[in-house]
Amino acid sequence: MLELRDITAGYDRRSAPAVRNASLTVAPGEAVGLLGPSGCGKSTLARVAALLHRPDAGTLLLDGTLVRHWRHRAPRALRTSFGVVFQQPRLSADPRLTLADLIAEPLRATGRRDTVPARVPGLASTVGLTPDLLTRRPHEVSDGQLQRACLARALVLRPRWLVCDEMTAMLDASTTAALVAVVEEYRTETGAGLLAVGHDRTLLDRWCDRTVHWNEVTAPGEPTAGAS
Ligand code: ADP
Ligand code: ADP
Repeated sequence: MLELRDITAGYDRRSAPAVRNASLTVAPGEAVGLLGPSGCGKSTLARVAALLHRPDAGTLLLDGTLVRHWRHRAPRALRTSFGVVFQQPRLSADPRLTLADLIAEPLRATGRRDTVPARVPGLASTVGLTPDLLTRRPHEVSDGQLQRACLARALVLRPRWLVCDEMTAMLDASTTAALVAVVEEYRTETGAGLLAVGHDRTLLDRWCDRTVHWNEVTAPGEPTAGAS
């Protein structure tokens, strides 16, 4: 179970927080869509959910255990249970890396270099990348091809949780359908839970078991200790 309780998070303690008192739960195997207007705080909450952004207040529980020892992000050992795909690909600082290198990066970073040959080509094929595309660099492929690589990178450690933040917002209908199908195939196979953030209710309703609106996530409830 992934549980976010009364999360407040922001970027600058002097300005108003981007997220205030948000609560959200995703059960194992469940797909939850999070809908809301641009700028309301969805991406910030998605990054908190994926353990990439330390909340200023509130708690995050993973299978009932409090996530602790945050620095800027949560400890890597916990973060590796999450695969994350953003709207804009976030790439390595090294522009020489090929798509194959990018997909393999999480394996190398976690000391699993020996599994690269067994994992990367098959996964690339699953997301619809041909061997020829794998040798190219990000600026040599289309947005859709690059997003396919980002999805493969998010899946390469076989995470138990997926966070897709506007994953398909830049993509055409057929690439969108293909990437959603890859995510759903992975979830069927592994029982992974999903938080899918977006602004397109039709897509989220079709994709997810339930869709929650930002207003429900942040609805004023019981005032919590410590929250001002
Ligand atoms: P959404 O995903 O719903 O569009 P965001 O979480 O991206 O919302 O943004 C929520 C608020 O936080 C906005 O006011 C936005 O300007 C601000 N914000 C987002 N990212 C940053 C950042 N890196 N630094 C400072 N402010 C940010
Ligand atoms: P923060 O508000 O925590 O600084 P940022 O938007 O600056 O959040 O960055 C989020 C973090 O996500 C970055 O530190 C980056 O290393 C990490 N990151 C980039 N790409 C991926 C990915 N594909 N999967 C998971 N994490 C990623």
